[in-house]
Amino acid sequence: MTLDESIRLKTELLLEGLTITDEALQTVGKGGLEKVFWVFEMTPVTHKGSGDGTRPLPNDMLLPYDLYVDVRYNPASPFTVTRSGETIILQKNKKEICEVRWPNRPDFYDKKTRSGEMMKKVASMRGDCGLRVCFDNACNYFVKGEECKFCNIVPARQRNRSHVVTIKEAEDIYDVVKEAIIDNPVCSHLAMTAGAAKDDGLGNLPAILEKLKPLLAEKYFPIVTAITATRNKEETEYLCSTGISSVAFNLEIWDEKLFSEICPGKTKRVGRQRWIESLFEARDLLKPARALSSFVVGLEPQESVLEGIDFLSSNGVFPIMSPFIPMVGTDYEGKQAPDADWVWETHEKATGIIYKNLPEAFCDEIWEGDIGICPSCTTTKLFFDFMRRIVPRDNPKRIMSPGSVEAFV
Ligand code: SF4
Repeated sequence: MTLDESIRLKTELLLEGLTITDEALQTVGKGGLEKVFWVFEMTPVTHKGSGDGTRPLPNDMLLPYDLYVDVRYNPASPFTVTRSGETIILQKNKKEICEVRWPNRPDFYDKKTRSGEMMKKVASMRGDCGLRVCFDNACNYFVKGEECKFCNIVPARQRNRSHVVTIKEAEDIYDVVKEAIIDNPVCSHLAMTAGAAKDDGLGNLPAILEKLKPLLAEKYFPIVTAITATRNKEETEYLCSTGISSVAFNLEIWDEKLFSEICPGKTKRVGRQRWIESLFEARDLLKPARALSSFVVGLEPQESVLEGIDFLSSNGVFPIMSPFIPMVGTDYEGKQAPDADWVWETHEKATGIIYKNLPEAFCDEIWEGDIGICPSCTTTKLFFDFMRRIVPRDNPKRIMSPGSVEAFV
């Protein structure tokens, strides 16, 4: 299989999902890293036993060329994962395609914070490197029915409440970060997110960032905060002064009319203009290509996504993307996912535009995770695979925890 074939396979798996036999699931949660729906439930259909943790799905799957792909359950998919002896096999329409592996489960998943909370309910691991915290699994836009139409943060929290702590205390987050990044390092960077806060401000993020400052002073680790855009310049200045490496204010949709239809809360409570302004403010305060904005692609015409990519990247903002998935519990549940050829072409053209406008986004530091996410752990992994088609690279080599990159079968 060539690298392009592996990326194509990953594209189809992201869009079409898969099923897994019970035999193949035997090692998940017992050596293989299980999925924790830490923020969204990124599957078109709920997988029985995932919500209560009795029959967890694997978090990611390693494809040829060590490409990590998010595991998304979909009983209508032509893809099935089965077990043959000690080998896990991916099939399409019952025809064997390749061997796959699960990433290793970190020890901190069985440890507790000082308050007695299971660490994996506070923070979860993605890829072989990324620590993830959703510091508040709520979004104020849901209260008024103004949520983004593709988003299921609230229904996902309700369904998965037995394995996530809804509002995380700063001290609990501190304990997990200390354990997973400083004391027994299996992760090298941290991504924190939450839905829109009640007052449209930073919510409890400042308390968390202040708590983490001594750890950052002890050992630098990149942090990205993926939150709604700030209300004003002072807020952006505060955020960028806390030691974080990057921000992600995710616009999701570029076309102005579609943005207001698909993201009514973001439109009414912040506004597209202020959203872009806050990205420019962060761009001026952080290192190059550290102000990010993610797009959900597949809900607007390709020309309009690419127009947004061109505008932002030519203004020093790093746009990233992931394909639209009709997630369970959203307004768009049951809708058709975009076509794989379309997704391929959009990613290919977008990364070409960014390389021309903002080559700094392709630097070694960013590839290694200095934006708090990297090709092994981000939800936008597919986008990074298209970056590696322009500047050929392997996955980042983790020097801090060689054990964590071994796959578990
Ligand atoms: S701002 Fe939109 S995408 Fe983010 S949590 Fe709220 S509804 Fe979901």
